Amino acid sequence: MVLKLTQQQQQQMYRHAQNTYPEECCGILFGRFQSNGETAIVEVWETENAWEAESKRFEAVSPEANDQGLSKRNRFTIEPATLLQAQKYARRENLEIVGIYHSHPDHLARPSEFDRAIAWDSYSYLIISVQQGTVVDCRSWVLDDQQHFQEETLVTEGCH
Ligand SMILES: [Zn+2]
Repeated sequence: MVLKLTQQQQQQMYRHAQNTYPEECCGILFGRFQSNGETAIVEVWETENAWEAESKRFEAVSPEANDQGLSKRNRFTIEPATLLQAQKYARRENLEIVGIYHSHPDHLARPSEFDRAIAWDSYSYLIISVQQGTVVDCRSWVLDDQQHFQEETLVTEGCH
């Protein structure tokens, strides 16, 4: 799998990740699945990390969630209303939602067990590692048939 993006898109995500540090940022990747098997990102939406609101709902079913120190520092959620808006936008612009990006403050750019649990098939999960407020790594992951994440190749236009 190959995920292609422009330097501008990359910078937009890096800025977002650094600005929200030490909390996780998140956003939606719009693009096109190409016939050669590659995915090209066309547009990046920065979204609000809605974890706090969502966690209140989780708390009801799983009260231990709060005891484990879960917060926007290690969790992210995109609001269902925002996702719906994104789906409508994609249809109108003749694009697809090809993935989700989020940051890992002071952690590696590898998916957590939580990331795997909420991941959808065919989406690219781009993870940006931010150490001490600075982006140090960026990797993209897709689920395989066994529901395990495999790293895919990230190609940034204009730099090799
Ligand atoms: Zn994560």
